[in-house]
Formats: sequence, structure tokens, C-alpha cells
Amino acid sequence: MKFTELGLAEPFLRALEKLGYEEATPIQAAAIPMILAGRDVIGCAQTGTGKTAAFTLPMLDRLLQTLPPKPEGHKPEKPKHKGPKGSKGANPRPRVLKSLVLSPTRELAAQISESLKKYGRHTPLRHCVVFGGVSQLHQVRALRHGVDSLVATPGRLLDLIGQGHIDLSQIEILVFDEADQMLDMGFLPDLKRIVSMVPEERQTLMFSATMPTEIRRLAEQWLTDPESVEV
Ligand code: AMP
Repeated sequence: MKFTELGLAEPFLRALEKLGYEEATPIQAAAIPMILAGRDVIGCAQTGTGKTAAFTLPMLDRLLQTLPPKPEGHKPEKPKHKGPKGSKGANPRPRVLKSLVLSPTRELAAQISESLKKYGRHTPLRHCVVFGGVSQLHQVRALRHGVDSLVATPGRLLDLIGQGHIDLSQIEILVFDEADQMLDMGFLPDLKRIVSMVPEERQTLMFSATMPTEIRRLAEQWLTDPESVEV
């Protein structure tokens, strides 16, 4: 199926065209319209199936739809030069963290972040990625700047929440990527804490390469009337 038939907004179609993607993969053709319609989705898919675009594209589309209008009198944001360090005013649009993608590893988190960058390049949406094993400094600075979406590994996310750098109270879209791997790595207690901090009324997407009973049970608890997608 062609990407143009899936209901994505023009800035995303433009990004996909530039990337040379025309045909959606099976998981994209199935999941994108469901996610755009606001449904919870549980997807069984391996890396390499186009799973990342299957959730990042409709997630960005929904974020774009809810972005508040720019305050009057401001020129389109795209400063040729960055302002001095710590300067405000480069982007006057108020930012609320509305979507959170949880990933088991920093490599996968970085990959998801790259996808958000390439698919969202023609939108004013901003995101940031946080993971452990590196200094918090740059991550905290990026967060202060204000973002619409965040990609995170569970441990570092909880550290930064504990320090008051991240607030999950306005999250509207929660994504678990590679849920089975997160459980294998012992992240279940962290995931439970994170879920307890996001609003109950939200859209939840869960992707996993395998669907053991434990994942199905968690999906029953954390997702509402989910659509299943298997590829
Ligand atoms: P993923 O399974 O999401 O990790 O994607 C695997 C690779 O396929 C990534 O490099 C994507 O950029 C690329 N890709 C995803 N969807 C498409 C598509 N519909 N057409 C061409 N390439 C794609």
C-alpha cells in the first residue's frame, strides 16, 4: 500500500518522499491508520520490518494535530543562527511533553530518535533522547529547551524524573518498543513505576518481537481494547 493512502499529514508524506519510501511495509499499512484513529495497538514485529516508522509516523502526526498555535506576531521558527547559550526566544511555542517511547537499549533509543528526526523534519515538533551510561548534562539541557516527545531507557528516565527534570503528567501517547527485551533485562519494576506516573487516559502502543504470556498479561493491564497487528 502507498504511504499516501494511509491518512498521514502532508509534512510526513514530504519527508517520506525525500527518503524515497513509497510503499508502506505490512506493519506500517496495518498499524498507521489504527494509531491515527487513536486506537491502542499491540504489534508483534521484529526489527527490520519497518516497525519504527509504523509507530513514529502516526505518533508525530497526532502530536502535530494537537500542537498549540504559535503566538501571534512571530515569524516561522527556523533561526539561521542559534542564539547565545541559554538564550530563550528562538522558539516561542510552549512545549508540553506529550509522548514517551520506552526502549530497552541506548542503541535502539538512538535509532528511534533518528527516525523521529527524519520523519518530523518538516514539522516544528521537537524530541529528545535520554539513556544511561553517558553524562546527563546534554540530556538535561535538551529537556530544558522543551520537547514534545521523549525517547528513553527506563532507568535513566526514572533518574531524571527523580531529579525533577521530566514530568510525565501530560503524556498522551505511551509506546513500549521491544517490550519482551525490556522484561528480559529486568525492567518490569521500572516500567510499572513509569506507567503509574502517566495519565490513565492515554493512547498506548506496545511492540514486541515475541508474545510470551507475561507480555500479553501486561498488555491487558496497560492497553485499552487494543488492536493486534502481527507480521
Ligand atoms: P525498522 O524495522 O523500523 O528498524 O526499519 C528498518 C529499516 O527500513 C530502516 O532503515 C528504515 O528507515 C527502513 N524503512 C522503513 N520503512 C520503510 C519503507 N516503507 N520503505 C523503505 N524503507 C523503509
